[in-house]
Amino acid sequence: MNILVVNCGSSSLKFQLVDSETEQVKASGNCERIGLDGKIVYKSGGKKTETKSSLPDHAVAISKVLDMLTDAKDGVINSLDEIHAIGHRLVHGGEKFSSSVVIDEDIIKEIETCNDLAPLHNPANILGIRACQRAMPRIKHVAVFDTAFHQTMPAKAYLYGLPKEYYSKYGVRRYGFHGTSHSFVSKRLAELAGLDYENSKLIICHIGSGASIAAVKNGKSIDTSMGMTPLEGLVMGTRSGDIDPAIIEFICQKENISVSEMTMVLNKKSGMFGLSGVSNDCRDIIEASENGNKDAANALDVLAYRIIKYIGAYYMALGGADAIALTAGAGENSSEIRKSIMDGLSAIGVEMDEEANKKRGEEVLLSTPSSKVPVWIVPTNEELAIARETARLV
Ligand code: ADP
Repeated sequence: MNILVVNCGSSSLKFQLVDSETEQVKASGNCERIGLDGKIVYKSGGKKTETKSSLPDHAVAISKVLDMLTDAKDGVINSLDEIHAIGHRLVHGGEKFSSSVVIDEDIIKEIETCNDLAPLHNPANILGIRACQRAMPRIKHVAVFDTAFHQTMPAKAYLYGLPKEYYSKYGVRRYGFHGTSHSFVSKRLAELAGLDYENSKLIICHIGSGASIAAVKNGKSIDTSMGMTPLEGLVMGTRSGDIDPAIIEFICQKENISVSEMTMVLNKKSGMFGLSGVSNDCRDIIEASENGNKDAANALDVLAYRIIKYIGAYYMALGGADAIALTAGAGENSSEIRKSIMDGLSAIGVEMDEEANKKRGEEVLLSTPSSKVPVWIVPTNEELAIARETARLV
């Protein structure tokens, strides 16, 4: 089966056409600057093309993607009949969705009720679904939610210490994100470490430009660092992660800015970018630190220290850990960041294999044979996970 995986943002549409039997990616790419000047990046057979193209809305973007997939010269399928289903990435499923679903009108209405929990993301995701449904009305469309995997968290992990009516009236609670990645990586970690997934204690560290940690017990998420929104938890590319909530009023008064301006600062100008003053990309920050930039060095220390603290907390929450995985951009590729994290885990008996840590982007055991807890690089693949979910449901 050919599954088209679609991930729509407010001005972007990423796609991958995956053969669900061989799990090969036939073509992939993204439409950028939808509603602005428009650009399409298309990759297939080792070839990458970039085209400036008018993309007034998501409907035009998806129709151009479908044209490219079926193009006589660069296309990978002969006709749209060769796309058997579409898997859509959805950011927020609230408490309504604890697993992926085949989309119909009622499901879209239910997803819309979660919109105020993710006002920037969910409406864009729905725009993408509608555009794809119009372009391909006869096939099944599946919604795969970032939040679904974490719906198994117990109340003690998802409730905040706030007046309880905020939860009952408005759904204010921890939901967690990156669920597709945490689910995919935790399953693979259990296989690599020779563990029974249904009887294991795993800590998954997804460290990309967005970052979160999950504690996975017996195949179920029991806690995770992101909260009602993806702002909570680790220090990320541009997001602050955990802060004292009283800082918000303090800075609003000092800088004479509104709460929504401050929320923008916490989402877009904080984290590694705000701390280092260099970039939101750890590669630039590592380079600046190596060239003597103290702020960059501090930012890297804060990043690793926060991750170490969460691993410690989840070690206790799980009652130990059978294995730890590092994944996503920095987790898969940065030996510097991995070393800083693993050096901070000696209290739980982690020992790093320096040679193994030179590798990147592949499945690697990073710890020595005598390490009490094995630590693995497990590359994530959210698109493949969405394609698998979609194939399973259709
Ligand atoms: P996203 O979270 O946007 O899906 P990724 O998981 O690909 O992105 O993570 C991208 C981030 O990973 C980059 O911004 C950078 O901070 C970090 N990263 C990627 N490769 C490296 C590397 N070799 N060294 C350090 N950091 C890296």
